[in-house]
Amino acid sequence: MRLRRSLWTAVFLVPFLAVAIALPLTGSSSRHFTAADVVLLAVFIVLVRLEYPVGAGAAVPAQLAFVPLLFEMPLRDVPLAVGLGTAVSSAILALAGKRQTLCPNAFGAAWFTIPPVLILLAAGERPFAWSHWPLYLAAFAAQTGADLVPAVVFERFVNGAPLPMLGRVLGVVYGFDLLFTPIGMLAAAEGRYAFLAVLPLTGVLFLLVRERWGRLDAESEAERLGELAHFDELTSAANRRRFDERLAVEQSRAARSGDALSVCVLDLDHFKAYNDAHGHPAGDDLLRRVAAAWTDVLRPDSLLARLGGEEFALILPSASSQDAEVVVERLQGVTPPEITFSAGIATWDGSEPVGAAVARADVALYQAKAAGRDRLVLTR
Ligand code: GH3
Ligand code: MG
Ligand code: MG
Repeated sequence: MRLRRSLWTAVFLVPFLAVAIALPLTGSSSRHFTAADVVLLAVFIVLVRLEYPVGAGAAVPAQLAFVPLLFEMPLRDVPLAVGLGTAVSSAILALAGKRQTLCPNAFGAAWFTIPPVLILLAAGERPFAWSHWPLYLAAFAAQTGADLVPAVVFERFVNGAPLPMLGRVLGVVYGFDLLFTPIGMLAAAEGRYAFLAVLPLTGVLFLLVRERWGRLDAESEAERLGELAHFDELTSAANRRRFDERLAVEQSRAARSGDALSVCVLDLDHFKAYNDAHGHPAGDDLLRRVAAAWTDVLRPDSLLARLGGEEFALILPSASSQDAEVVVERLQGVTPPEITFSAGIATWDGSEPVGAAVARADVALYQAKAAGRDRLVLTR
């Protein structure tokens, strides 16, 4: 079952807003909103954005500010304030075009504030005391549960994440929360501005997070460059480098197994004339369509490479020359009607350098061209 994202957003946003708005209206607080609350909220908003990527999710150190907030601010205002704060910081990030990990929506993300606030309210909005630890434990459990249930439902039913992966990711995320909670409690125990003492720690976290993102960016850049080094940009077929690497691998595999190994060189016929008649961009498009059509009918263990221009090559593991002929006939059947191709097929003899087989296929291709094109020639 997949829920629509917008439906999901509404399912969490509406009850959250109802509770968050109702709370301050349905009772008064013994605490006052002070400058310290504003600073704490601001710190919370910054910390919520320090997402340390863990697997598919992110751990945030927001607990460092959230815990003192629960003992400083009028409790009934906490959910709405946190929701507003998160929404504002989301908006700032979105405007700045910065990355964000996905959350259903900023307000829904503040849903976790409600159960601990209700528990602490029920206990009388008392100042922090270490002796109240069972109460705090209950509040922490409630907070985690309130975060966990929507996270699991959202990731599982909206994003379709598998449960074991979710378990690992969320384990780290809540482990983070658990580790930061005592530090938040220390700050709460020491009074109004004590949380300022933990701020340098968040500076360290900030550096770690930045470095981690930088590393991930570098990794994906390296991956992209690796792809570029192995794939032809126009057609997404393999390029010559990948063809050569794969050929060496398949040669040693064939040498070990005694299986046949065939190679085929293909060249589009009168492609220059097609370019001249329809223009270079149309020629490019035809190259793309040819490569896509061929790729579609090849077995996954075969490799199609574009060696350059309108010349392609195939590596066909476990294929005799007769098997290769069948493959090429299949390619003829799916080639766009506006073009034909000529092909030369060679089968590795088991002892020659494998490049020699490619050279023989090239000679066969030349013979196919000379014999009138739109045909294939086999060597031994
Ligand atoms: P033949 O049947 O003998 O193979 O004739 P041909 O015209 O296909 O071969 P020729 O080698 O004379 O011309 C190849 C043409 O392919 C010339 C070149 O402009 C064109 N070509 C090479 N690379 C590209 C490309 O990436 N895109 C386009 N659109 N054309 C290309
Ligand atoms: Mg050609
Ligand atoms: Mg050519």
